Amino acid sequence: MNFYETSRQATVLGAGMVGVSCALALQAKGWRVTLVDKREPGEETSGGNAGVLSRSSLLPFNRPGLWRSLPQMLLQPGPGLKVRASALSNWPWLWRFLWHANRTSFEKTTVALDALIQLSWVTHRTWLTQAQSQHLLRENGWLWLYQNPSSFDASEFTREVLQKFSVATEILSPQSLHELEPHLAPHYSHALWIKDAASVTHPEGVVKAYAQQFINAGGIIQKEEIKAIAQHPNGWQWQSSNGDSHATPNLVVAMGPWSEKLLGPFKFQNQSNTRSNAPSEKTSSLQIKMGFERGYHRQFKPVEGVPLGRPIYDISGAYVLSPMQNAAGENIMRLTTGVELAAQDAQPNWQQLEEAENAARRAFPMKEALPSSDWMGSRPSLPDSRPVIGEMPGCPGLWLAFGHQHIGFSTGPGTGVLLAELMSSESTSIDPRAFGVDRF
Ligand SMILES: Cc1cc2nc3c(=O)[nH]c(=O)nc-3n(C[C@H](O)[C@H](O)[C@H](O)COP(=O)(O)OP(=O)(O)OC[C@H]3O[C@@H](n4cnc5c(N)ncnc54)[C@H](O)[C@@H]3O)c2cc1C
Repeated sequence: MNFYETSRQATVLGAGMVGVSCALALQAKGWRVTLVDKREPGEETSGGNAGVLSRSSLLPFNRPGLWRSLPQMLLQPGPGLKVRASALSNWPWLWRFLWHANRTSFEKTTVALDALIQLSWVTHRTWLTQAQSQHLLRENGWLWLYQNPSSFDASEFTREVLQKFSVATEILSPQSLHELEPHLAPHYSHALWIKDAASVTHPEGVVKAYAQQFINAGGIIQKEEIKAIAQHPNGWQWQSSNGDSHATPNLVVAMGPWSEKLLGPFKFQNQSNTRSNAPSEKTSSLQIKMGFERGYHRQFKPVEGVPLGRPIYDISGAYVLSPMQNAAGENIMRLTTGVELAAQDAQPNWQQLEEAENAARRAFPMKEALPSSDWMGSRPSLPDSRPVIGEMPGCPGLWLAFGHQHIGFSTGPGTGVLLAELMSSESTSIDPRAFGVDRF
């Protein structure tokens, strides 16, 4: 045991699903934890997503075969991928992301993500029960819809990988799809029902329920804007926008798409791996490159008596349509888009959302869009599509938990459990090496 661990005190920066999960898991091991965010828990990326928790998410976007399909994707961009000029300024990430579309990297990532997804799944269930919020969970899978046999045939590789990992699926004919979802338009030649999947009816509500559990057990939430972090003789300090400095033995950076910006300009004195407090002469800076796979959502009033039982992913339309509820418990439909590659702070371009709405309206009846429901967020993606979960080498007490790309809502709890085990020097529930910071 060293100073950092014996203190059992930590500050977690960022109260999205990942940060709240880290705070809850640390607290469960007896740590005293403060959670800091400029907003209320779950009001950014973790609140705006499609709410799907699925074992099928073990497949990253950068996979073998991506290079072959890239020219067509760029020359004839479909609704699923928009590349804006501002994305090119982030070419170091883009290049590395494409480089990782090789078999070795893909195999390592799928194994690692599958373990993280399964650990998260068990943890979500436990926490939802503890928070008396099981009613937010729907355990009936999700559907991938194919408009023609050739698009279904093109998914062969994906289906083989799902089979290899024993993910429960069923191929549906148009007739059996109609029996399962009678209000879907009869557009689809095939559907794949991913049965090892669930969804939530209110993603922000789930994060808030977990945050309330954290508060109920004595956790502290501080509402402040974080400006910078720095080393401190007894650990770390973070500065807020009002100029205050706060010291802590252990600092967890879990600020989703904003994590790289916080760490980017930061230079640190390397300390030895034994965590003695003697800094070496060497100064390093962080080499983690983050990409921003932006996405949009719009919400609609449902048609009364025309329910959708589970989220659908229309492969050709490249959207996900999820039956959800708003904070008041009223039924709504949330439409989320595919990926838009752009600079994180580039102006929104709503074209992708308009296209997704047109496609979704052809598939499922919905009433008008809800006023002020349009939203944009960024999936925070690292080049190998694996999040970082672990301690910054040479920086005892500085812990990183970000980069969860398309699946941070589902994998936040597993991340929290793994990080809390690492911080407590315990044996870990899953192999942490694929998530190590040292891979950068
Ligand atoms: C369109 C779309 C659909 C998606 N669908 C799914 C899905 O179905 N299933 C799934 O698992 N994932 C999905 N995702 C991905 C998922 O939403 C993210 O991976 C996840 O929310 C990331 O969580 P996080 O806690 O790391 O980040 P966030 O939720 O963004 O949390 C970061 C927090 O840091 C805070 N913060 C930032 N800067 C500061 C600052 N300077 N000071 C103080 N606080 C700060 C923010 O306020 C925020 O609360 C989707 C994403 C998008 C965009």
